[in-house]
Amino acid sequence: MRLPAFAARAVEALERAGFETWAVGGCVRDLLRGAEPHDWDLCTAAAPDEMKAVFAGERTLETGLKHGTLTLLTGGGPLEITTFRADGAYSDSRHPDAVTFVRDVRADLARRDFTVGAMAWHPARGLCDPYGGRDDLRNGVLRAVGDPDARFREDALRILRGVRFAARLGFAVETETAAAMRRQAAGLARVAPERVRGELTDALCGRFACRALRDFADIVCTALPELAPMRDCEQQNPHHLYGVWEHSVRAAGQVPAEPVLRWAALLHDCGKPACKTVDDNGVGHFYGHPAAGREIAERLMRRLRFPNDELGEILLLVEQHDRPLGDSGKLVRRRLAQIGTARFRRLLAVKKGDAVGQGTHPEDIARLLETEALLDAVLAADACVSLRQLAVDGNDIKALGLSGPAVGEMLRALLDAVLDETTDNTADALLALARARMEERL
Ligand code: ATP
Ligand code: MG
Repeated sequence: MRLPAFAARAVEALERAGFETWAVGGCVRDLLRGAEPHDWDLCTAAAPDEMKAVFAGERTLETGLKHGTLTLLTGGGPLEITTFRADGAYSDSRHPDAVTFVRDVRADLARRDFTVGAMAWHPARGLCDPYGGRDDLRNGVLRAVGDPDARFREDALRILRGVRFAARLGFAVETETAAAMRRQAAGLARVAPERVRGELTDALCGRFACRALRDFADIVCTALPELAPMRDCEQQNPHHLYGVWEHSVRAAGQVPAEPVLRWAALLHDCGKPACKTVDDNGVGHFYGHPAAGREIAERLMRRLRFPNDELGEILLLVEQHDRPLGDSGKLVRRRLAQIGTARFRRLLAVKKGDAVGQGTHPEDIARLLETEALLDAVLAADACVSLRQLAVDGNDIKALGLSGPAVGEMLRALLDAVLDETTDNTADALLALARARMEERL
């Protein structure tokens, strides 16, 4: 195991000044399991002022200094260095009332949430692992440090961090830890919505997201009460092998691990419980569920303060997931003209996830693959699906004598004709059509 040079240099600088310093947390966990750490954190006996003195000539950020964190801007990226710290009492389920700086790394490790993240490592002194994090890592176990109920009561965000680690690392949550996560889940109501969104987005994009969403459906639905009715909504429909929650989990597991797609897949049927009817034959129907789902999804995402662009994309996918994309080149070009390539591909991904998650009709999946092939062919042929691709432009239309909004209207009418295949996309054909339309108006 090695520290990258920029982190090793900071460790040396602090230790030369007499302050014990370690790599700590996620980077140690990742080093030990042979994964590339995505960020490096150090912890040190140096108090904030002492750290500042050691790095006096260097570029630093002091945004977290109150809590003991100095960010050192190095050639290898930002490095967070935090004074050994013991957290005081928590009265709001989220923030310690006071932090105390201490001189002992073990006291610092005691405040951390899970054993696999409560290890410190030093190139010469080796591993400091008072809670058996290394064994838990080897066995793929996520275990709270200390009394799990107390830890989740102190800070309910840790419950979602647990779900996130389960979803990303595929670890099994130790029984008492999982039970305490459930017992303390009511505290999630006090976690900042942005943090709920962040942890759940990360969890959704994890390799083991399906398993975590299944195992912790109750916790996820405590954080997202808008989705709770999905959990016991049976579909009673020959097109569906699974209930709404399991279906949605499977759909989410099928789409690429990107936040917009994963959220859209999880949310696409959230309108079903409210729209369910059962006919005389005992078959369930969900008329209007995409529009109802859009409303619920919008409420949920506004509450969690999703950025507007992501929110808009996800709502479009929820609302349109049930609409056919087109089974001919002509229909595909029409739809492309309406929504563009990127959205078309995202819709296709969600629809494929939906079809696979139904678990019943493989021919539905085959049809979507045909649509995908049509899309690829349309794009490869550079078929005209936008004004930009028309063989004439605004100047050509103005030259015919039109001006103002009429120019744009004419261009859109020409594009429509091309999409309808009533004209070729050549300058001659389009100008002839434009002249004919102008004459019709006279
Ligand atoms: P990731 O790989 O996602 O960065 P991480 O374990 O490094 O995972 P961070 O959020 O970067 O998580 O936090 C770094 C370390 O700080 C953690 O390993 C953990 O020891 C500690 N930590 C972070 N948040 C909390 C918390 N809410 N409660 C207790 N300890 C925490
Ligand atoms: Mg980290």
